[in-house]
Amino acid sequence: MPLHPRNDADPRHLGVAILGAGFGGLAMAVELQRRGVTDFRIFEAADGVGGTWWVNRYPGCACDVPAHLYSLSFAPNPDWSRRFAPRDEIQAYLERVVGERGLAERIELGCRVEQARWDAAAGHWRIEDAHGRDWTADVLVSAIGGLSRPAWPDLPGLHRFAGQVIHSQQWPDDLAVEGRRVALVGTGATAAQIVPEIASAAAQLVVYQRSPNWILPRPDGPIRPWQQALYRRAPWLQKLVRLSIWAGSELRVPGLTWSNRLAAGHRALALWHLKRQVPDPVLRKQLVPDFAIGCRRVLRSSDYYPALMRDNVELVTSPIRAIEADGVVTTDGLRRPADLLVLATGFRATSPVPEGLLIGRDGIDLATAWAEAGPEAWRGVAVHGFPNLFLLMGPNTALGHNSVVYMIESQARFVADAVVELNARGATAEVRAAAQRQDNERLQRKLAGSVWNAGGCRSWYLHPASGRNATLWPGFTLSYRNRLRRFLPEAFELSPAPRGDAGTGP
Ligand code: NAP
Repeated sequence: MPLHPRNDADPRHLGVAILGAGFGGLAMAVELQRRGVTDFRIFEAADGVGGTWWVNRYPGCACDVPAHLYSLSFAPNPDWSRRFAPRDEIQAYLERVVGERGLAERIELGCRVEQARWDAAAGHWRIEDAHGRDWTADVLVSAIGGLSRPAWPDLPGLHRFAGQVIHSQQWPDDLAVEGRRVALVGTGATAAQIVPEIASAAAQLVVYQRSPNWILPRPDGPIRPWQQALYRRAPWLQKLVRLSIWAGSELRVPGLTWSNRLAAGHRALALWHLKRQVPDPVLRKQLVPDFAIGCRRVLRSSDYYPALMRDNVELVTSPIRAIEADGVVTTDGLRRPADLLVLATGFRATSPVPEGLLIGRDGIDLATAWAEAGPEAWRGVAVHGFPNLFLLMGPNTALGHNSVVYMIESQARFVADAVVELNARGATAEVRAAAQRQDNERLQRKLAGSVWNAGGCRSWYLHPASGRNATLWPGFTLSYRNRLRRFLPEAFELSPAPRGDAGTGP
């Protein structure tokens, strides 16, 4: 049942506008549907659904969280073919969710939102899309993801490279590496997936490592047809598997937030993995991180080290001095020719919102508000100065130990409850500055002793200018869910929605 019947005549007015059709946007839509809210629309810049799984198409792209956990609780998939699902399968899974939930007609594909601006007088958001159309929405949900803006490295001379340059997130479907001399910059989760996939095809692959990462074995493997059949017949069994993976992941929290000594087992396993796979002591030494395990995302790969040992692959640890037209020059003076430059250099995780996209009360640009000290929100979902805006995967809700889909679902349920509450009250809501401040003081106190802040590494978790951890949730996912288990009117300034041309209310 639409909650805004008097706006039905205006197809450009929405109860809820959702930006992004990835896990977040789709979970949000389903939670709204479950509560009878149907006057929503999802705006998606890409030509298909899936968010990060639509965009990232590099070879080897897969999820390093087991598939039975990395899926939506309301849409179990007994047909996962592997323990760690490949990108194509996750993409197909999300398309299936869209089909099963009848969401296709509510999604505007290929429709980037250029700007959403809070209109205080009308008490709603004014939205302009890339096709020049104007929309209004009582509530705006940003589900654009925390890792959607590629980080281009500031390598001197990058623009001079005469060959092809691609960022891992923009991998062309028809890119062939066969017979080419590939220079790859970066050694994070993305690089660890690309390197083994392209190593055998490339004529030569040079991996430029600024610093190594801790790597654990990846216990991957096929899920057999009989297991899939079992999950189909006994869904409770799949739920049990999901629960056990989730609970096992929660056990990592103490080693990340209380004492890194509790992660000694993981460190030993990573060192054993390295020793077993890399017999050459010189190469091995180059691959041992000098920071505490968990400080950066711990990688899971069983084929990265073997790929580095191929005859046509070289690991270079001298810093890059310059990129030249035909190759890469390192500070030791060596020049290595290349005709394809792959930048697996990550994302602008601490500047997740583009400038000019979200303009709140008094014309504040969210990107500008967050520029100096990094993103900050109340419980990751609401920001003072931005009435009726809710975020999914907002500040300090990414994880170093468990599935973000769990966090997304916690947020989507909260936001859907908030939408229902605001409609019932005929109100708009802006989180109080004091509530946001207190929340963040507590959060930062917890983060101060964590391995992410004190483990001695540089990472995308920390804002480059302020050093503040603006990305991670420092605790159990269950405690996060508890904090969002119901809408908290006392944390918000609730104002009557103006009864203008398209105000909130029955
Ligand atoms: P990343 O972890 O930020 O790694 C970027 C790499 O580029 C690092 O090795 C970094 O070196 C290097 N780099 C950046 N700028 C450089 C420069 N100017 N010169 C030389 N090297 C430079 O990025 P990512 O690998 O794309 O992964 C980002 C996140 O995406 C992951 O942490 C994870 O959350 C997510 N992801 C998940 C999966 C999955 O399976 N679930 C897969 C891929 C990615 P330093 O380390 O020295 O800074």
